[in-house]
Amino acid sequence: MTEGTERPPRYRRILLKMSGEALMGDGDFGHDPSTLRRLADEVRSVHAQGVEQCMVIGGGNIIRGGQAAAQGIEQVTGDYMGMLATVINALAVQSMLEQSGLQTRVLSAIPMAAVCEPYIRRRALRHMEKGRIVICAAGTGNPFFTTDTAAALRAAELGCDALLKATKVDGVYAADPLKHPTAQRFDRLSYHDVLARDLKVMDASAISLARESAIPILVFSFQRPGALLQVLRGEAPHTIITEEAQMPEEA
Ligand code: UDP
Repeated sequence: MTEGTERPPRYRRILLKMSGEALMGDGDFGHDPSTLRRLADEVRSVHAQGVEQCMVIGGGNIIRGGQAAAQGIEQVTGDYMGMLATVINALAVQSMLEQSGLQTRVLSAIPMAAVCEPYIRRRALRHMEKGRIVICAAGTGNPFFTTDTAAALRAAELGCDALLKATKVDGVYAADPLKHPTAQRFDRLSYHDVLARDLKVMDASAISLARESAIPILVFSFQRPGALLQVLRGEAPHTIITEEAQMPEEA
């Protein structure tokens, strides 16, 4: 499409969920600087369109509760370790976003006064109104949850019009397309379909929360540069999960 004829973004306020793993790039731990810079570029181009943005970042590139438990650490303690990992990631993302000229605030569900603000809903809303990118850290603040659930929770309470889930593939498939290249891909799904077929998109509590608040979930590939804005304009492949979508017949 030529300049000036692009479609406007379809949403006014979005929540972007990035897993910790996505921040590793091709590595197997920590942060990949070029991936963080890419993320900053994506967020900046959406910000330039006047879309308010908040983010929830996972912690899987550092530690997950389940991994800690497998090493003999109590599950609840492991979960707190996982939540702290998300704060480390939030600070890394904040730094890259600010280097690219964006204003940001990290709001943590576990108060950490020396490092960032506590998560306070009204404050998060005010930051977004002022054009700041809000990075929600420490998940829900409670063990036994995931950052997917935190993403749905924050999207609901912050009045987001859409929850965007960045993944390695361009939507939801009937089976992992990296292992099963012929797996069926869906353009649209209902929340019910995802739950009934146990499709591995987000955990069931996240899907249920999004459903209760009627927040569409858009699953897209972060591998494709420019994807975030293109998905918001309806120009890049993605799967949209809403209440009504008819499940395509099984192949
Ligand atoms: N976690 C938690 N409560 C939350 C969010 C996260 O206990 O509300 C812990 C949990 O142990 C999880 C870890 O933090 O395994 C990292 O989050 P997640 O696995 O969701 O990260 P991602 O897979 O998105 O990188």
